[in-house]
Amino acid sequence: MCSVTHVAAGALLGSLGEGRLVAFLIGFGSHIPLDMLPHIDFEDFRFDAAVSVVLLAGIYAFSGFSPVLWGALGAVAPDFENLLWKVGVIREEGKIFPTHSGLIKHGKAGNAGSLQTEIAMSLVSAGLVAVALLIGGSSN
Ligand SMILES: [Zn+2]
Repeated sequence: MCSVTHVAAGALLGSLGEGRLVAFLIGFGSHIPLDMLPHIDFEDFRFDAAVSVVLLAGIYAFSGFSPVLWGALGAVAPDFENLLWKVGVIREEGKIFPTHSGLIKHGKAGNAGSLQTEIAMSLVSAGLVAVALLIGGSSN
């Protein structure tokens, strides 16, 4: 799953109001089923990473260190190793997260194929983050 989608899903899970640690753990755990679903990934990982950082910064700006932020951080955290792999810091065999290492089958269906699709996916994710902030955006 692309990172912006993980950020959005984690933010939604964090908005459920279970606290920061639980939000982070639930977000982290959500990465596996989302990676298992057939999905499209962004052609350009840098665009995905940049939009993800913008969404995380937006969540922080609106809610500080809220469970929404912690849910989003937990959900996207496993993709940090994908980023390290894509920039050549670690090798394919160095990945340890189960859906990245091949231990659990990754449900990849292809690449987004167009910038318009990636922008649309980013906007939908941003919308989900906005919903998450409306539901649980307080910083307690
Ligand atoms: Zn992943």
